[in-house]
Amino acid sequence: MPRLAYVNGRYLPHRMAAVHVEDRGYQFSDAVYEVIGLSGGRKVEPLRHYDRLDRSLREVRIAWPMSRRALGFVADTLIRRNGVRDGYIYIQISRGVAPRDHAFPVGAVPGLVMTTCRKPPFNGDVAGRGVGVILTPDLRWKRRDLKTVGLLPNILAKQEALDAGAFDAWLVDDAGAITEGTASNAWIVTTADVLVTRRADADILNGVTRLGVLDLAREAGLAFEERPFTVDEAKGAREAFLTSSTNWIRPVIALDGAQIGDGRPGPLARRLVARYAEVFGDR
Ligand code: PLP
Repeated sequence: MPRLAYVNGRYLPHRMAAVHVEDRGYQFSDAVYEVIGLSGGRKVEPLRHYDRLDRSLREVRIAWPMSRRALGFVADTLIRRNGVRDGYIYIQISRGVAPRDHAFPVGAVPGLVMTTCRKPPFNGDVAGRGVGVILTPDLRWKRRDLKTVGLLPNILAKQEALDAGAFDAWLVDDAGAITEGTASNAWIVTTADVLVTRRADADILNGVTRLGVLDLAREAGLAFEERPFTVDEAKGAREAFLTSSTNWIRPVIALDGAQIGDGRPGPLARRLVARYAEVFGDR
């Protein structure tokens, strides 16, 4: 079965799937997207992803290319036709194809592209292994709450991390506080055992995994705070971890080469990995 991509109304072999050179997503990053995790053939928290997509579209004033229900149907069809059980589906909506001009095009039809990607099923042992992250200035625009395809600062920071032998970079704002990772949300556990992650305002993307972990924290009666935390606070934290649809929950054991806590995945992060896998893993 060839891998298919959905492009503007057609299911095409992935290697032939292409958009026009004047698609505004390609020319201007004038597009938004979602990445929905797939676990055991099920989408992980699709409603939250579609709600966030709706918000991104509204804020940048791009119309839904079809009804939300129809889009969900196309996504499900692509997942089924590609036979993907674990991995993710990528959904991108651009303002459409039009002669290059900054002004919104009149009458352009929003472009819709979807691809799927297979990944190994969620594995608590792998997820529970700790990773190192570096710190680097957050060079992004001021509407990071919108999931737009303009990811150049994220890409540069991620590569900087990889070049340094780290897993990811945590981005630092002008006040010395950590905003988030290049494609994940950042968390610490203070020495008083309080879970801290930045509040969801325009400074960060409100991760669907982040919301899921907050649900788990509430369910377990854990103390948590949604507020900015500084680099110093993170370096002195008992534990740290990151969350995203493609990485679930990953303990962070080193920050800029300095070990966090005892340099091993902490008990709270491991507990959250296990609980997250119970709730959202393959059943
Ligand atoms: N922050 C940024 C900048 C991201 O790009 C992502 C995901 O790609 C996240 C956070 C995590 O969001 P989610 O948990 O919805 O995948």
